[in-house]
Amino acid sequence: MARHAVIDALTFDLDDTLWDNRPVMELAEQGHYTWLDDALAAWQGVQIEQWGRYAERFPLSAYQDRRMALAQQYPLRRGDFTWIRERALIEMMEEFGLPRSAAFLWAAAAMDRFMDLRHQLQPYPQVGPLLDRLGEHYRLAAITNGNADVTRLPIARHFPVTIAAGELLAPKPDARPFLAALARLGTPASRAMHVGDSWQEDVMPAQRLGMRVAWIDRHDDSGRSLPPGVYRLRHVSELPALLQWLDSRLN
Ligand SMILES: [Mg+2]
Repeated sequence: MARHAVIDALTFDLDDTLWDNRPVMELAEQGHYTWLDDALAAWQGVQIEQWGRYAERFPLSAYQDRRMALAQQYPLRRGDFTWIRERALIEMMEEFGLPRSAAFLWAAAAMDRFMDLRHQLQPYPQVGPLLDRLGEHYRLAAITNGNADVTRLPIARHFPVTIAAGELLAPKPDARPFLAALARLGTPASRAMHVGDSWQEDVMPAQRLGMRVAWIDRHDDSGRSLPPGVYRLRHVSELPALLQWLDSRLN
């Protein structure tokens, strides 16, 4: 691959850009809740013959409804998915009959389990070799709103710069996580390309900053007209071809 004169850094969204996020979220969602129900049933603090099983009183759908209600009740926290999950678990366990202190401890343990499962994700098979090749020619950064901690994943080695936008309390589409990544990469926006699947959270903010954008159009939203500097891909594996095409046009 030729060195590209015009673009020298790439920033990547993670969820639904480098892996399909749905299977891992389904596993984590079901897995930590089942774990909690089993743990509470085995714990002597729950009077199982009087109270019954926790998940019989609060099935998974009740947990999901509770999270939606909390997101409406606490609008400033609506993007902080970890806080909302933990808060929902605490409320439901207290209503089930647990003392507050026990509800806090079990919610924290369930969230540890959730985060373990949430990191059992599989990047698309092309991603490792792709990042290896790109890393020879470009500086690479990851910018994510999700609660996956890149440093817990094997692909961390490809990313000298990682920005957890939720922890900045400025999730995408806020410009700050992009500006933080560019500053740490030492690259002006005009020499960087962002790669992501979300029109609102990836394409629009990066394009407004003057970055080029490779939009991963997972849902084949081909009716959209693309602003200048935005290119449409169906899969991240098409990125090298786009970069080569841009290189041949720009040199
Ligand atoms: Mg995404």
